[in-house]
Amino acid sequence: MTEDQEQVEAVTVTSRLALIKDAISATAKDAGREPSDVTLVAVSKAQPDERIIAALDAGQRIFGENYVQPALARWPDLKQRYPDIRLHMIGPIQSRKAKDVVALFDMIETVDREKLAHALAKEMVAQGRRPDCLIQVNTGEEPQKSGINPGDADGFIALCRDELDLPIKGMMCVPPVEDEPAMHFALLAKIAKRNGLQILSMGMSADFQVGIQFGATHVRVGSAIFGSRLPRN
Ligand SMILES: *Cc1c(COP(=O)(O)O)cnc(C)c1O
Repeated sequence: MTEDQEQVEAVTVTSRLALIKDAISATAKDAGREPSDVTLVAVSKAQPDERIIAALDAGQRIFGENYVQPALARWPDLKQRYPDIRLHMIGPIQSRKAKDVVALFDMIETVDREKLAHALAKEMVAQGRRPDCLIQVNTGEEPQKSGINPGDADGFIALCRDELDLPIKGMMCVPPVEDEPAMHFALLAKIAKRNGLQILSMGMSADFQVGIQFGATHVRVGSAIFGSRLPRN
């Protein structure tokens, strides 16, 4: 990429980021909520470094990644340069990666099964590091998708909190692409409420406004800020 093209990209990321933040504020206000109650997680997975730097230059500090390996390649250096960066793990986690995940991430949004919960609990004790955790719920009960089924959520939350002493703070979901997201967000909010959990991570580029209307405290927005992702190799 030439220097000119990089300049154009940086300006694009900066202005898109500002637009998304404005849209978050406006939607929160319309819903009778405080804009500061909704946190933007900028999803940087499979994006070139230049675009991430542009977002950092514009003041963004909270980022989401969904693969451990590329996140390990990118973020430790950047965290040294910008100590207030907060990284969210938003992708499926293999239990054998629990160690890396606990070491690198500040919030783990995708706790979704017993084996993983045990592995994370063990690592947190070993490392003395306790990143906040969210339970991922497969609200559409899609066979190929991660997440605990809604009917098993209460029991799984109890196991994670009471038996494993994981710092469970809320819930996250990714609705089926072909569905109206609203009913999935409403279901997630209901499960969180009856379990006394405050954080709701719901809404992406296409549906973050709906997420906010249904009580999202965190929205995960990638392509609407950074543009289309690089193919994974
Ligand atoms: C990729 C991803 C996002 C961001 O998706 P966009 O449509 O690019 O905003 C959000 N959440 C999860 C879990 C993702 O994997």
